[in-house]
Amino acid sequence: MNIELIANFAYILSAALFVFGLKMLGSPATARRGNLLSSLGMLIALIAGLTAEGILGYEFIIGGLVMGTLIGALAARLVAMTAMPEMVALFNGSGGAASLLVGWATLYHGDVSTFTAVTILLAILIGGLTFTGSLIAYGKLSEKINSAALVFPGQRIVNSLILVGILACGYLFAMDPSPESQWLYAMLALALILGVMAVIPIGGADMPVVISLLNSYSGIAACAAGFAINNNILIVAGSLVGASGIILTNIMCKAMNRSLTNVLFSGFGAVKQGKAIEGEVKPISIEDAYYLLEAASNVCFVPGYGMAVAQAQHVVKELGSILEANGCEVSYAIHPVAGRMPGHMNVLLAEADVPYEQLVEMDDINPRIENVDVAIVIGANDVVNPSAREDPDSPIYGMPIINVDKARTVFVLKRSMASGFSGVDNPLFFGENTRMLFGDAKESISGVIGEFG
Ligand code: NDP
Repeated sequence: MNIELIANFAYILSAALFVFGLKMLGSPATARRGNLLSSLGMLIALIAGLTAEGILGYEFIIGGLVMGTLIGALAARLVAMTAMPEMVALFNGSGGAASLLVGWATLYHGDVSTFTAVTILLAILIGGLTFTGSLIAYGKLSEKINSAALVFPGQRIVNSLILVGILACGYLFAMDPSPESQWLYAMLALALILGVMAVIPIGGADMPVVISLLNSYSGIAACAAGFAINNNILIVAGSLVGASGIILTNIMCKAMNRSLTNVLFSGFGAVKQGKAIEGEVKPISIEDAYYLLEAASNVCFVPGYGMAVAQAQHVVKELGSILEANGCEVSYAIHPVAGRMPGHMNVLLAEADVPYEQLVEMDDINPRIENVDVAIVIGANDVVNPSAREDPDSPIYGMPIINVDKARTVFVLKRSMASGFSGVDNPLFFGENTRMLFGDAKESISGVIGEFG
């Protein structure tokens, strides 16, 4: 069997592992194995690609593997869970830069056809804007640069001009593709600028959606690079990343009831309030919260971004176990956009070893929320805001929420009356059946655990 045939078999195996891995990422119970399968697929694809093309000797492949493994393991260990979106932004940026370089390098391999020139252009264009766009997203999320939406008059006109410039330079390059072409350099510079221009008008809190979109772009860039170098597995892997990234972007937008256009162009954050809220806030002490929980037979935890800030997941799990031992039915209701990245709450609760069967999706808990004795809202705000359901004037009207206000009693654990990410006030805090347990979520829950003795 010749080496090319073996490589193609290896590519088919890798592609199958990618597909099954992706499928398994769809459920918290199988996500870890899915991740492992996909990584294995990538390893096989890399080794097959590098050896079949005779690009590198074994010593370089092994050296690269050791170095990559060390960097990956350190990143996974050292980066805090709340900083994961930033890390993903950097990974996306690296993917974009890699596609850009692969596309560019192809020009040095003799004459290229017009088709190859176009694929090279796409790899450089999309890879370039993904690279700089991801760096800006990283800067905004990590607050290394101002995370506010930066909007100025004529911004769209400037962006349109850049786009026209890219098209013109791209056309002139494709007519005479050479690595030294000045049109190539001009297009590359414009693509890098476009990445920056596309992300600066988006507020820091919308970055997770942008990162998911950039992830999709990095896949499309890889796919284009795959066509440029005629490598099947790069085309397949790029398409899978491109498609799954855009699906995820879509899911996030839907869960916020916002269009992608609104996320990308509205500078979300400076929003008007809905109607004024009337009612009385009823604080509760840790001791009184304990008495109610001690008597409850059905408790549902509803985590949000504040649980991530407080790193309260372990004490939440501990309280859940205590309640179970007390004969109570315990569940954890997960809103798809709770927190600041997709699956944020799933990751935190998995870290605390909360059993998967106790996790309930929004659509499953809402029809039976009336049977919940106590809904414990831990640092969630927007995802439990009833004005999204009831107030057509509210900026978040139409966003699906977890209807905790319909539970028999609601405990809201947060530090103040401050609003959540959307900046919208929450009538839940004034509800007849709501009790506010003010303070850091981890400290409050630890206090209740202490009462159980
Ligand atoms: P929110 O941002 O609405 O609210 C978080 C709440 O946590 C705040 O009101 C804050 O109140 C409280 N909090 C912060 N720190 C602590 C602490 N140490 N202890 C207790 N409470 C604390 O979070 P949600 O999860 O409800 O909603 C997520 C929002 O983010 C939605 O609007 C969603 O659209 C948006 N979003 C989500 C993305 C995702 O992928 N998940 C992506 C992009 C946006 P206080 O300061 O008073 O303590």
